[in-house]
Amino acid sequence: MELRGRLTGIAASEGVAVGPVFVHAPGEPRTERQSITEDEVPRELERFEAAVEAVVPKLSATAQKMREAGNEDEAAIFEAHIELAGDPELAEGVAGRVRGLQSPEAAVLAVGEEYAGLFAGMEDSYMAARADDVRDVARQIAVEMTGEAEAGLEALEVPSIILAPALAPSDTARVPRGMALGFVTAEGSKTSHVSIMARSMGVPAVVGVGGAALEEAFGADTVALDGGQGYAIADPDPETVAEMERRQAELEAERLSLEEYRHKEARTSGGRRIEVSANLGSSTEAEGALEWGAEGVGLFRTEFLFMERDELPSEEEQYEVYSRVAAAFGEKPVIFRTLDVGGDKDLPGVEQPAEENPFLGWRGIRMCLEVPELFKPQLRALLRAAAHGNVKTMFPMIATADEVHAARAVLEECRKELAAQGTQTGPMEVGVMIETPAAALCARELAPEVDFFSVGTNDLVQYTLAADRGNERLGHLQSAGHPAVLELIRLTCQAAEEAGIWVGVCGEAAADPDLMPRLIELGVKELSMSAPSIPRAKKAISEV
Ligand code: PEP
Ligand code: MG
Repeated sequence: MELRGRLTGIAASEGVAVGPVFVHAPGEPRTERQSITEDEVPRELERFEAAVEAVVPKLSATAQKMREAGNEDEAAIFEAHIELAGDPELAEGVAGRVRGLQSPEAAVLAVGEEYAGLFAGMEDSYMAARADDVRDVARQIAVEMTGEAEAGLEALEVPSIILAPALAPSDTARVPRGMALGFVTAEGSKTSHVSIMARSMGVPAVVGVGGAALEEAFGADTVALDGGQGYAIADPDPETVAEMERRQAELEAERLSLEEYRHKEARTSGGRRIEVSANLGSSTEAEGALEWGAEGVGLFRTEFLFMERDELPSEEEQYEVYSRVAAAFGEKPVIFRTLDVGGDKDLPGVEQPAEENPFLGWRGIRMCLEVPELFKPQLRALLRAAAHGNVKTMFPMIATADEVHAARAVLEECRKELAAQGTQTGPMEVGVMIETPAAALCARELAPEVDFFSVGTNDLVQYTLAADRGNERLGHLQSAGHPAVLELIRLTCQAAEEAGIWVGVCGEAAADPDLMPRLIELGVKELSMSAPSIPRAKKAISEV
């Protein structure tokens, strides 16, 4: 067997697979007819409108299909596509070009490309990944006009590894159930749709391997893929196949051995109860987290809701998202962290100064306290959502007790305003993140002011060791096991114990089986992590 080589990319979805190759590299819709004549303009504009009208119900039907299959993430993608298809600016852009005598099919592709370029240029990786959505929608409208049937993925009859330059949501949705063993794409990031989809389908994916490498692999018969390591091998030799099969058996055995822990209450061997919760970034992750066995949400990072868009989300929109998550978790606690942006992350709708040291700058609670039009709608939405579940609120980046007093004062002000309006609210515990050394060292002063602490080890490590958390050269310093960090956690737990409040950990260290015994010994009561890590953590706790 010929060894065509290794494709290295981004590890987008865990797991290994070996299987036959299915190449999906569709050409662009035929747009030979580039221009039209003056008297054709009205009819061509109508054709464009009719194409949009034909595409929208198809998208709705797919969204409905996804929702019925319990796949909220994908349903949300198609709903976004419906909005894009009906976007007045898209229609305006196309109409302008058609009046300039360009054919509508060529015009919609060109306008789609312009938009995609704008998205792709955005720094935020989530927004950049939206470029594919725009292209996908434009292509579907064009195909509707050229009358070409979309062929390919729906015809897949043998479970295969799908190789494609890029995979749009409308592509992945056409793959028959069980026919995708894995995905390898030339483009993409961890937040591309194909990555999200692969994770929700539970199949491996390696994305961003580059066009040239991918095309070389198009001629291969089989591909071996390790989505956890981020590489694929075209036409692997027998040793590689054997190695992959061994990994596959190992992962499967691990998955089966963890199954019994998934929905168990975690207890140490000595019987101490530890709550294992999920870290979430969007409401669509709630169901999945419950399936992984989450006993609550230890950290809901609300910033994604603010960063995925051009303007600030309204109180109403936030209320809908927060109450949806709270309702999904029922009596289980859901801790929403108030907005933690600033510094290196831009927030559309808020003017941020350029800073020399963004991580030591105007971020988190510092920004929120100074921008009430940002903070108050969020707090009001949380208070209202608290009527629908066990909602708790947590303030990030606390360094002084004054910040806690000030934040609580704004919260009380919001509660009074809502009461005066006759709007329903619910009871809500309030906590703070312990992620600055100052907060840990002043934990005794902070503890009487709050209901709980949650240790953010990601930032606590970076600030304690003066080691930027994004700098891969400093890996040896980025450890929550450093005695200085453990000492700060010890002080935090001691102060909490004295004040009768509980402590959780929601940084990456919470999922580290080597650190768990130490954290539990120090008095940590809750560990919050990415949902797929939950069964593994519950098992590790039972062995403490
Ligand atoms: C942390 O700092 O550990 C944390 C959980 O917050 P984030 O990673 O969002 O800064
Ligand atoms: Mg943090």
